[in-house]
Amino acid sequence: MRYVSTRGAAPVLDFADALLVGLASDGGLYVPEAWPQLPDGGTGDYVATAVEVMAPFVGDSIDADAFAAMVADSYACFDADDVAPLVDLGDGLFLMELFHGPTLAFKDIALQLVGRLFDHELTRRGERVTIVGATSGDTGSAAIEACRDRDSLDIVILHPAGRVSEVQRRQMTTVSSANVHNVALEGTFDDCQDLVKAMFADEPFRNRMRLSAVNSINWARVMAQVVYYVVAAERLGGRREPVRFAVPTGNFGNVFAGHVARLSGLRIPRLVVGSNSNDILTGFFRNGTMELRDVVPTLSPSMDIQVSSNLERLLFELLDRDGAAVAALLDGFRADGTVTLDPGLHAPLSDGWSATRFDDDEVLACIADEADRSGTVLDPHSAVGVLAARSSGRDRSTPMVALATAHPAKFPDAVEAATGVRPALPERLGDLFDRPERLTTLPNDLASVEAFVEAGVRPV
Ligand SMILES: *Cc1c(COP(=O)(O)O)cnc(C)c1O
Repeated sequence: MRYVSTRGAAPVLDFADALLVGLASDGGLYVPEAWPQLPDGGTGDYVATAVEVMAPFVGDSIDADAFAAMVADSYACFDADDVAPLVDLGDGLFLMELFHGPTLAFKDIALQLVGRLFDHELTRRGERVTIVGATSGDTGSAAIEACRDRDSLDIVILHPAGRVSEVQRRQMTTVSSANVHNVALEGTFDDCQDLVKAMFADEPFRNRMRLSAVNSINWARVMAQVVYYVVAAERLGGRREPVRFAVPTGNFGNVFAGHVARLSGLRIPRLVVGSNSNDILTGFFRNGTMELRDVVPTLSPSMDIQVSSNLERLLFELLDRDGAAVAALLDGFRADGTVTLDPGLHAPLSDGWSATRFDDDEVLACIADEADRSGTVLDPHSAVGVLAARSSGRDRSTPMVALATAHPAKFPDAVEAATGVRPALPERLGDLFDRPERLTTLPNDLASVEAFVEAGVRPV
């Protein structure tokens, strides 16, 4: 399998090279040259389906036995027996719980595998990298858990000091591995992101430290997420039976994976894109217009995003894989802060997609309501998924699966506000608040952060 850039001007790569570069050199995102077609079969066993679904995307770029072993290893640490349990909420609505991994958010599903793939490929090549990233919460801890104790890399994560929840901070700072480095930056999440970009733009520094990233534009993350769409279909009737999905959305990586499952032959008559008050995608799907606005903080912070990076992969398909047209469209959007698709381009989105947004009051009411109705406790992100699913109308003949992306205990304040009960952390994290923390507070200043990285990481 070969990978091409959505902007059409970067080298064509195999899977392992696309994995390690992440972003294409023309600023685009890597996508497979063709969509493999899903064969019949599948029993709903997560690991077996994962190996089968991902094999054509990996091709012969990574040894097949080694790949299968990495997949099995990635999901062995999940708390639920079948990795991602499907809970029946009644009326044809199911909840797929994707939050039973080490850091209690669905990002573990992709990052546990991506961390192993990086380590495998770097070790094989005799190389080392320094992974740097900025986090507003969930990504940092999932990336740290995926990269801890791996000899081929160091990981440095910047979070805004005092602006992530205590659970989120402790999930990062209580990891005691020598290759994990936490920076509490005196600034906002945007400052963290700007500093990461500035480190990548400092070419001598980037080359000296061999900087790399595991962010949500990495193709391997999307690939790993295709799996649970297929598993859900298998458990609900088989790979050839229709299933609808509702997906709480931020960077559009999760729901785009559902679209990949559809392009690969799974029957998904509808993908419902659920947003919080940061609802740029709602307008895009409804009338083809995207209009950039400021990000508003909500109870579902991992969806507080305006520009969804993975949308570029959908635009590439809508524009018939014309990379130059994708680049022109996105350049226009960046320059004007707004873009409108031609009606002819937007038309395919009226079939198979819908999009809807919910504010914090609706989210709190949904958490309370679902706890009353079925006894299921939702976190605020998963509640957006359930609201989106319920908004999409009844079709008793086609099951609807809402994806649950975080454990309620990861967002205890919102859940307690809605239900009156503070959700407990799973037992293995019960001592999170007693573990020692390791972090370095730094000023919002490139030189200080680069000096910290240089002093902390092991020699390349
Ligand atoms: C990252 C995240 C999302 C958004 O997923 P995207 O792939 O960025 O659309 C939703 N919920 C939770 C809990 C997350 O951590």
